[in-house]
Amino acid sequence: MASAARWPTALRRVPAACAWGGCGQPARVDVLATVPGEPPRLAVRVGGYCVGHAVIVGIDTQAHHGGELRYAALLDAAGCDPVGSD
Ligand SMILES: [Zn+2]
Repeated sequence: MASAARWPTALRRVPAACAWGGCGQPARVDVLATVPGEPPRLAVRVGGYCVGHAVIVGIDTQAHHGGELRYAALLDAAGCDPVGSD
């Protein structure tokens, strides 16, 4: 696990870095993928990425797992918990 995942709650408004290795840009989009046959609320969070990598990861995830892709804008969702814990 990356140490960034342990940031205190007070710092959660600071944009996380793109989860793509070596990218370094701020994560702007949360990539989610629904599981075929399961309700959308059980969508799996793939990770937070910059816009460019979110598209790549989304296509790759859909190619491997199927389901429906969902994107959530991170910077507009401050204070919001898009998926819930675990
Ligand atoms: Zn990136």
